[in-house]
Amino acid sequence: MVAKYSNQKEKIKKKEIQEAAEEIKKGNLVLFPTETVYGIGANALDEKAVKKIFEAKGRAGDNPLIVHVANIQMVEELVETITPLEKKLIQEFWPGPLTVIFNRKSKEIIPNVVTANLNTVGIRMPSNKIAQELIQMAGVPIAAPSANVSGKPSGTTVEDIIEELQEKVSYILDGGFADIGLESTVIKVVEKQIVILRPGKITKEQLEKVAREVKIDNHVLAKVKKGEKVESPGMKYRHYAPNTNCMMVYGKNTKKMVDKINSITNDLLEQGKEVLILGKKQNLKDYIASEKWNMGENMEEIAKNIFALLRKVDKEKVDLVIIEGVGEKDLGLAITNRLIRACSYNYIIVE
Ligand code: AMP
Ligand code: MG
Repeated sequence: MVAKYSNQKEKIKKKEIQEAAEEIKKGNLVLFPTETVYGIGANALDEKAVKKIFEAKGRAGDNPLIVHVANIQMVEELVETITPLEKKLIQEFWPGPLTVIFNRKSKEIIPNVVTANLNTVGIRMPSNKIAQELIQMAGVPIAAPSANVSGKPSGTTVEDIIEELQEKVSYILDGGFADIGLESTVIKVVEKQIVILRPGKITKEQLEKVAREVKIDNHVLAKVKKGEKVESPGMKYRHYAPNTNCMMVYGKNTKKMVDKINSITNDLLEQGKEVLILGKKQNLKDYIASEKWNMGENMEEIAKNIFALLRKVDKEKVDLVIIEGVGEKDLGLAITNRLIRACSYNYIIVE
């Protein structure tokens, strides 16, 4: 099956979004842009259609999908109640990159395959205009995980994912490079506390302006042990990882971090091995390795670029990729969460 590839970037025509919406209504899959990363979407109310997403991605059946909505009525149809704190979060951050885990309505409106049999459902209202129009025109909520084969870095541009997904979807809407580049912040309100299950563009610091207590789930940075119970099934799985060995090195003191990276590089070069460094623009000149890539100058740029860069490292055929860590403040928490997974928890913190 060949998808219609609407390569109009920001200027996708209404007619094309309408055609994609028809595919959603028919129970087919559509690849579409959101402000976070690209999504691979299906009618969230159609069990058969949603199953196609799991097949296309090779996604584990116990990893629930986020449901994307275009208005509050769609949320009210799916959830039991919206608590005052959840209402506040919605007012503050929607449309935008925040997924809220609600108790789902007992009437089983959403098929179990979407929520992986949990009695909760994760919902988000994207701010990307193409995504909004697609949901509106389809007239149904759209279940959509990140557009990538499971385990690989999420797609932030159509060029990166077209090969692995084009045969599996019926329509591709190309909206250019994703604005943010990292998936949404996933939170759950427990009593009056907000728990961050997956960090994203909406930071802990921003959430603290809405609720007094914001907790980061232990598994955001720690590895899930075998058999351990998790709040969000996605935490268990291998994610964002290139095939090449990767290591993250972080130090609050930039000089000490650069020295450490150079010393690791030096040891490997002496063994005749090749190293690729992914570093901040301003630090690249200080590295001794000959292969070094610019991740960006600040957190926003790094967030936007990181998945596209991780997708390219395997082509370099190096022995080790060393990636500069960025710390855990603000957007750093989300970047660090993705990097330690990309590196299969191989990281060093330089004191
Ligand atoms: P992705 O769709 O690839 O962006 O991943 C969605 C993330 O949201 C995964 O980590 C899921 O485990 C998490 N998620 C979705 N629905 C729920 C839910 N009902 N409860 C907890 N986590 C959820
Ligand atoms: Mg994903």
